[in-house]
Amino acid sequence: MANSKYEYVRSFEQPDSLLANTWIVIRIDGRGFTKFTARYNFTKPNDRRALDLMNAAAEAVMKELPDLCLAYGNSDEYSFVFHKDCVLFERRASKLTTTIVSTFSAYYIYLWPNYFEEPLTPPLPSFDGRAVCYPSDRNLRDYMSWRQVDCHINNLYNTTFWALVKRGGLDPRAAEQELSGTVSSDKNEILFSRFGINYNNEPEIFKKGSVMYRDFFPPSAEPSPLPQTVAQSTPPLSHPRPQRAIVRPLSQPAAPSYMDPARISR
Ligand code: ATP
Ligand code: ATP
Ligand code: MG
Ligand code: MG
Ligand code: MG
Ligand code: MG
Ligand code: MG
Repeated sequence: MANSKYEYVRSFEQPDSLLANTWIVIRIDGRGFTKFTARYNFTKPNDRRALDLMNAAAEAVMKELPDLCLAYGNSDEYSFVFHKDCVLFERRASKLTTTIVSTFSAYYIYLWPNYFEEPLTPPLPSFDGRAVCYPSDRNLRDYMSWRQVDCHINNLYNTTFWALVKRGGLDPRAAEQELSGTVSSDKNEILFSRFGINYNNEPEIFKKGSVMYRDFFPPSAEPSPLPQTVAQSTPPLSHPRPQRAIVRPLSQPAAPSYMDPARISR
């Protein structure tokens, strides 16, 4: 087939190699999950099963793609970080993004029955994805902070919104109106004074999301490093876990030797 008269069409392909020596972040996000979560009656504002499923799919992606060093997820999104030195697919954005998106989607659907009783039926869940390069360690750190702040803001809003609806008896429109123009302290006050909820006591996984990293220099001499999970509580045992995976709260992260916080300094 090579050198056929049709071969010239290859020249229409656009080069899309990502800038060398930069952190590559692939962020995926569930498509139309507002509808999807309603259809499968996710507990609002946070369905723990769904978060565990997202984390399990992300862990599978980390295991299949050894070039990944870090991942952060909340809600229906996950950000995967390829190391600066990564040369997988010659750093082509389309190849990297589509491989992450399809691997994640495949595992999300494969692992679904471990977390939900109701079987999936079409339209099946799917994810979009994009690739962005971050040149400095500070940029990468700020990217992670940006996603985590987004998680916090959304979660505070959703927690207050659903308290007003479920416990305050407001209809969704009234709850939305009540919250329009409020700042964080107002929402904390509504939660505490009306519902006796101290937002600080909400589960860490809801407030902060989940992070997973690969330990490139494990303390023992084992040859193939496995991803480690820093989730907020013990993950379900319904799927196999890497033997050396550790589970610790985000507030006391294990110092990963490779992604040492000190090395990603501001
Ligand atoms: P798009 O296709 O543009 O991303 P979307 O409906 O997925 O549209 P998002 O901004 O991604 O919009 O919002 C994700 C939705 O999924 C939110 O409504 C969020 O509350 C819901 N969601 C995600 N994870 C959970 C969960 N674990 N429990 C309950 N709801 C969730
Ligand atoms: P890459 O990840 O680079 O795409 P690959 O192994 O998938 O690697 P391809 O060039 O895509 O390489 O080749 C696809 C392979 O799958 C070939 O070996 C092809 O013979 C095999 N294959 C695909 N479809 C079928 C099929 N229906 N029956 C038998 N073999 C198949
Ligand atoms: Mg989206
Ligand atoms: Mg979405
Ligand atoms: Mg989203
Ligand atoms: Mg092929
Ligand atoms: Mg192929």
